[in-house]
Amino acid sequence: MKILLMGPPGAGKGSQSAKLVKDYELTNISTGEMFREAARNNEPLGIEAMKYIDQGDLVSDEITNEIVRKRLLKPDAERCFLLDGYPRTVSQAQALDAMLLSMKSKLTAVINITVDKEAILERMVGRRVCKSCGLSYHLKFKPPKKEGVCDACGGELYQRVDDQPESVRNRLDIYERKTKPIVDYYAGHGILKNVNGMQTFENVYKDIKEALGEVK
Ligand code: AMP
Repeated sequence: MKILLMGPPGAGKGSQSAKLVKDYELTNISTGEMFREAARNNEPLGIEAMKYIDQGDLVSDEITNEIVRKRLLKPDAERCFLLDGYPRTVSQAQALDAMLLSMKSKLTAVINITVDKEAILERMVGRRVCKSCGLSYHLKFKPPKKEGVCDACGGELYQRVDDQPESVRNRLDIYERKTKPIVDYYAGHGILKNVNGMQTFENVYKDIKEALGEVK
């Protein structure tokens, strides 16, 4: 199974993908998480990427395609993976198709989580992320058992710089202009499944599973 999870910022991609990865034993490939991890490790690529990420801008297609290409070549990505946050531009989608073609592979399904525009800002400013394991929480919709502490690993929770209102507005603008056209791109390929993200976490997950079940 080779799945791509799409949706606007704040659609719940990170939380849904964490559960999908566990239940379907998929290799999780999140470009945002790869950049943040590189930054945590003080790698030049990560430090460079964070200049764009903190502003809510996109990292260049060239850099992003290259880290994905290297990641897809690792053995654990051969059989099944879940892409989260990539591609984000039509040019990245085309690059991904070319990469998969050269590996004699292709995507099984593209799941697009849809969310009302008005709900996005509330969802994003309330988000908190674990500094150690990257797991996402939400102050209102998915609070941790103990305030400020990750349920899974006990790590400290923080608010990403790019979840602050100014960056959020920029990210939404970029999503509308650059990422949304990919929805049509994949609809044209006949592998797009829309899932209503304006439901509880459990119901969104149930719909994603149903959509995956429909995939031939
Ligand atoms: P995410 O964790 O998916 O919300 O990504 C956080 C940030 O990382 C984005 O706002 C971008 O700045 C950067 N990023 C992640 N994936 C990509 C991508 N496919 N192309 C360009 N920039 C990306």
